[in-house]
Amino acid sequence: MDDIVYYYPNRHEQHFQAGHPERPERVEEIVKALQGAGLWNAYPKIAAKDVPLEFVATVHHQHYLDQLKTASRNGDMLDMDTYTTPASWDLALQTVGGAIAVAEEVWTQKAKRGFALTRPPGHHATRNRGMGFCLLNNISLAAQYLINFHQAKRIAILDFDLHHGNGTQDIFYERQDVLYISTHQSPLYPGTGSIFETGTGKGNGYTANFPLPPGSGDEAFRTVLEEVILPLLDRYEAEMLLISYGFDPHWRDPLGHLQLSAQVYGEMIEKLCTWADKYCHGKVAIFLEGGYDLEAARACSEAVVMALLGKKGNDPLGKSPRPESRSWFSMLEQAKTIWKIT
Ligand SMILES: [Zn+2]
Repeated sequence: MDDIVYYYPNRHEQHFQAGHPERPERVEEIVKALQGAGLWNAYPKIAAKDVPLEFVATVHHQHYLDQLKTASRNGDMLDMDTYTTPASWDLALQTVGGAIAVAEEVWTQKAKRGFALTRPPGHHATRNRGMGFCLLNNISLAAQYLINFHQAKRIAILDFDLHHGNGTQDIFYERQDVLYISTHQSPLYPGTGSIFETGTGKGNGYTANFPLPPGSGDEAFRTVLEEVILPLLDRYEAEMLLISYGFDPHWRDPLGHLQLSAQVYGEMIEKLCTWADKYCHGKVAIFLEGGYDLEAARACSEAVVMALLGKKGNDPLGKSPRPESRSWFSMLEQAKTIWKIT
């Protein structure tokens, strides 16, 4: 079994817009950092799986797929901040195939962990709409693939991006075969992810949101993970952890006001890996979402991959120079009441 398998999106540099924060350098800096730390060359890179459009259409509506294909041909914007280029359609499909390949490799225990450098990102893409720099919902399609073709029954998606993954939440909101858990800054784009959004119908109790006020940092993330997220994973008996990995909660990120350090990001992944080793054969795969500071990209990615490999890293950027706000504490107390965690 490989210790970790990567997916790298070929020709992703053709998906770019001058001056836009979601730029190819994000992925290239991650690769450089992992190379520099001896975490890249020694490990396999998996090719994207060829994914039939009929499968993609089990998560996204066909009319949206048609619209995305046409927009991409013309290089149109999907909304004010979501661009396409003539390369975007093929890249988005390739990236979905990469996410699925990584998830499958870990699910079938050919690799212990996985890291899909998915670009464009996916967690804001809903069934019928691309938004927030996201075209197709990579992580949701990976989860759906495990459910359809590998008889997965309980997949946990943990979303640590700065932003709420409204698309992922929407897709699984009425279902219990995916538990969606998100930490995110609130208020912030896209405005969803309140603590009271907990799923509906059969999915009631299978969406958990932990909105963090601006200024929340290491202590908030550590405490929320220990006191609510891990107990929810215990309760759900997740069969695999899929993690939406954005490096935008890092204190250097220009789009956010959370103050997470790379070191504590790594510690969180380490704790989740320990949980997975104990309860689900170590099955953990991470999928790139947002993050717009290139130094944070390097530090967080190195810390997170070290954690996936069970190694200790160091954090050259250190802690936020700003004091951490404790106003998240009341959210945590409220969350414990909602989720009946004592
Ligand atoms: Zn984000």
